[in-house]
Amino acid sequence: MAIQNAYVKSVLENLEKCYPNEPEYLQAVEEFLEPLQPVIESDARYEKLNVLGRMVEAERTVVFSVPWVNDQGEVVMNHGYRLQHSSALGPYKGGLRFHPSVNLSVIKFLGFEQTFKDCLTGLPMGGGKGGADFDPKGKSEAEVMRFCQAFMNELHRHIGEDTDVPAGDIGVGGREIGYMFGQYKKLQNRFTGALTGKSLACGGSLARTEATGFGLCYFAAAMMKDHNESFAGKRVIISGSGNVATYANQKCTELGGKVIAMSDSCGYIVDENGIDYKIIQQIKEVKRERISTYVNYVPGARYVKGCSGIWTVPCDIAMPCATQNEIGAESAKALIANGCFAVFEGSNMPCTPDAINAIKAAGLLYSPSKASNAGGVAVSGLEMSQNSERLSWSFEEVDAQLKNIMENIYHSCAAAAAKYGMSGDIQAGANIASFLKVADAMLWQGVS
Ligand code: NDP
Repeated sequence: MAIQNAYVKSVLENLEKCYPNEPEYLQAVEEFLEPLQPVIESDARYEKLNVLGRMVEAERTVVFSVPWVNDQGEVVMNHGYRLQHSSALGPYKGGLRFHPSVNLSVIKFLGFEQTFKDCLTGLPMGGGKGGADFDPKGKSEAEVMRFCQAFMNELHRHIGEDTDVPAGDIGVGGREIGYMFGQYKKLQNRFTGALTGKSLACGGSLARTEATGFGLCYFAAAMMKDHNESFAGKRVIISGSGNVATYANQKCTELGGKVIAMSDSCGYIVDENGIDYKIIQQIKEVKRERISTYVNYVPGARYVKGCSGIWTVPCDIAMPCATQNEIGAESAKALIANGCFAVFEGSNMPCTPDAINAIKAAGLLYSPSKASNAGGVAVSGLEMSQNSERLSWSFEEVDAQLKNIMENIYHSCAAAAAKYGMSGDIQAGANIASFLKVADAMLWQGVS
């Protein structure tokens, strides 16, 4: 569907003119705007008060230098970002990414998506995102700590439990959150829940580590149930081998699926007997090795160099859980040709627009990341609630709430799509349901 509505078109064209060098951001906005056209036409206030024009821009963007000293005593300069996209529904909320590919366009696309994802959880959170072009790979423990502290030396001015609450993302796990939390506490002299993904001893939530991967599988199971399908006996590919991928593997396996392939940025492994998530955890979380070493633990498995070939392995279900634009048109074609019947997005914006079109045109089930990977931020929201109450809930309690939230997200997206004549299109439903809620809050709060 191309954008026909003159107002919606003008919003996109204006962004294209202002930000010609931010392709990821423009891609995310265009994908969001397309299905909104009938919604925009249903209420004149959206155009009259330029709700869309305001909604696509971040409320505030902070770009800062992060100088730090490496183990050789050299002074290294990285670039830090915190984008506060929308506070319409609550404090800005969204992760921090440390990866050499981080730039303003990547942070803007992630912050934009985050607002609508956070909204879908039903919890009172706005959207934001941040990070740095720092590569934790190959750095010593002391270097990672010094970088995190240097990053927080600036970030602490902009965050707080009622203002902006960052969490982890690519390259930022429990270790990095710990170093940043320690520095935040020292600089602010306050022990508060200004970050989520904390260790249990410091106010973290049980099930936060597992939340995005588990949530993805709960969402996928709800969507498949609606189509008389399930994970039972299915061959599943999960790209990546980080936080989201590892726990998606665990839950998918518990629900009866067999994860036959996983990857990292160098290559992928295939294990026809099913990849044991505990071995991945050991390799990636404990030893911080490459996924290629899996074949040393499981001799029958094979390793292939280059990560994009993973989508040529025949499967029933594909769950991309590594990074943006990891499934292009060619990979989508390979999945379809091999009989894959569902693509559930775990990473943010993993499918290119061409890939999405091909997947939908071939009639596969398809869930967009802003809906199916919302489990991480949902449990971050529950961590904020526990911090406010100064209580901790049991694993079972948090997990049950997570499952309930993911099932509700699926059903609210399905209902929104049906209401606007796009039954079964969960991508359209996710955009419509989240737009309506953020727009309502913006209209209620006035132009400010
Ligand atoms: P991790 O850093 O834990 O893992 C990332 C994985 O993806 C690693 O296996 C990494 O390989 C691989 N990867 C990263 N960049 C690339 C690349 N350019 N090409 C190929 N592979 C790559 O990150 P997470 O698991 O936390 O995040 C994965 C995705 O899920 C991201 O899109 C993130 O935004 C999204 N997400 C994460 C949430 C969370 O709670 N953690 C919540 C919602 C979304 P290598 O080790 O070689 O770098």
